[in-house]
Amino acid sequence: METPTFVAMDARWRAILRGESPAAPAARLARRLFAALPGRSRCYFCHVPFDGGLGHALRVLGYGQSRKNPHLCARCLEAAPEGGAVIPVSVLFADVRGYTSMTERATSLEVTALLQRFYAAASGALLRHEAVLGQIAGDEVMAIFVPGLAGAGYRTSAVAAGRSLLQAMGYTATGKNWLDVGVGVSSGEEYVGNVGGGGFKDFTAIGDVTNTAARLQAHASGNMLIDAPTYDAVADLFPGAERCELQLKGKELPVVAFRIQVSEGRSSGPTVPDRATHVGRGEDRPTSTGMTHEKESNSVDSRATPKS
Ligand SMILES: [Zn+2]
Repeated sequence: METPTFVAMDARWRAILRGESPAAPAARLARRLFAALPGRSRCYFCHVPFDGGLGHALRVLGYGQSRKNPHLCARCLEAAPEGGAVIPVSVLFADVRGYTSMTERATSLEVTALLQRFYAAASGALLRHEAVLGQIAGDEVMAIFVPGLAGAGYRTSAVAAGRSLLQAMGYTATGKNWLDVGVGVSSGEEYVGNVGGGGFKDFTAIGDVTNTAARLQAHASGNMLIDAPTYDAVADLFPGAERCELQLKGKELPVVAFRIQVSEGRSSGPTVPDRATHVGRGEDRPTSTGMTHEKESNSVDSRATPKS
């Protein structure tokens, strides 16, 4: 009895994460039914509409937009049972520098207000680039980029998201940052899904990719450190990135990484992901979150200033 359930779940997770069509007939049927309902924006996976009269009714049943990614419903993400799949993924960590000394200098109310502002600005920047928000804890945010949502260019999306995040912190060619933040991005294959136990579960990614991203972030300040597999996808966009070899905690051998400054990047690069290759994605683009999906939001270098 437990085996078929497990298999069905893994198929469901693979469908979401890799962008493959779901194998389970029940899910396919629900999807077809939801797709027939009117709605301008809907869940990429189950096609439940988010707007319109029925959308509001369905929200009561738990089909509202996920807070981890507004393109999925909470039923497909947060409320989905435990499970996941090993898939290609990019993981991003952004961390506030000098958080400990900040907590000593400022009142807890001031620190809380600053962190709230950090979470809001960071998640806004990340969600614009098809991130699924992972843990948000203390002074750091984590984001996961999977092919099922970000397309084949998920690594490029992760770098673009890191850059948007730094820009949102005020790291621009002309501006002054209001918070010291470092970003780390790593790519590879690892386990992604709803992980937990004892009544608690969370959507996250577990493995070496996550560890590497977290370690890289610790070496970045006001810029972004990305590992070699990530850089492979964006080398054309950032030909001037500084190559470095870092001794990361928990790693025996030095890790090759590339440091990207916000002001860096070519003003005309190759087009990023072919989004038309997505399987199981509705044509409707979510609009109710105020997110924009014009081509340029997907391009790492849309706001690049020419390198001097
Ligand atoms: Zn859904």
